Amino acid sequence: MNYIGIDIGGTNLKAGLIDEQSTVLATTKMKIAQIENQEGLVSALAQMTQELSQMAGIPLDQIASVGIGVPGVVEIRRGMILYTCNLPLRDVPIRRLWHQQMDMPLYVENDANCAALGEYYAGAGRGSKRFVTITLGTGIGAGIIHNGKIYHGANGMAGEVGHMSIVYHGEPCPCGRRGCWERYASASALKRLTAQAMEEHPDSILGCVIREHDGHVSGQSAFMAARRGDPVGQRVCDTYIDYLATGIVNVINIFQPDMLAIGGGVSNEKDEQLLFPLREIVQRESIPCNRDKMTRIVRAELGTQAGMIGAAFLGKKRRMI
Ligand SMILES: [Zn+2]
Repeated sequence: MNYIGIDIGGTNLKAGLIDEQSTVLATTKMKIAQIENQEGLVSALAQMTQELSQMAGIPLDQIASVGIGVPGVVEIRRGMILYTCNLPLRDVPIRRLWHQQMDMPLYVENDANCAALGEYYAGAGRGSKRFVTITLGTGIGAGIIHNGKIYHGANGMAGEVGHMSIVYHGEPCPCGRRGCWERYASASALKRLTAQAMEEHPDSILGCVIREHDGHVSGQSAFMAARRGDPVGQRVCDTYIDYLATGIVNVINIFQPDMLAIGGGVSNEKDEQLLFPLREIVQRESIPCNRDKMTRIVRAELGTQAGMIGAAFLGKKRRMI
């Protein structure tokens, strides 16, 4: 059998068709701006399903299900999108609307949970039982897998680790709290730290790196400057990794996963600059335990396809025993 996963992002809908071996057979995408309303969304999902079927040369009756990853709150059982942060989708009975057009099971899940599921079955988390993904982007997303199942909590909103406060009375966060982890350890936070350092030390190598990129501050700027021996760039990296480690130690102390995968653009930095120093702090600061049972911190493997592949697994895992 084959399975479709569709990741609803802020800009694009990304859809892919995978087979039993989790090989991606075809992908397609569509701009979210092209979609006007909830009926338009359902038509887009149906259209992409047809497209993938044609592209891969696999008839619709050989596709077992479609799974969608939604950037917000969903109700899995009823197949509803309750709320999304950046899209005008409220209380959408997406499964009911889907069945008006398509005769194929549709599964709905939060997008960070989909990414965790994708990595768990087809990426960095293979072979683990208790697995956490941390994705560093505009915010910090996370998915928690416990004994092979997504941990949803009572209301489906478990895993919002980006909003645990790590600095008492720290930076205000749009969620209403202060000092949230993602205000310090997301990719956006890294850019902010970098921009501040550059303002304070415009003549540093960091300043040079940014000017070489037409004044564009990226999540890579500080790491690039540090590689050239810049103490200012190195300080930004150290501060950032310290914040990152603080939250990761909290997560590890609470869940004690076998494995924790870090995803998002920042995770592509060299091991010597990111994972090695991070592991060192985590090892020093987490609750001591049996060495063989320590959480392994690894890089996520599926990149921007994690959400899409995980969404396809919403249906696939139901057929796996
Ligand atoms: Zn917050």
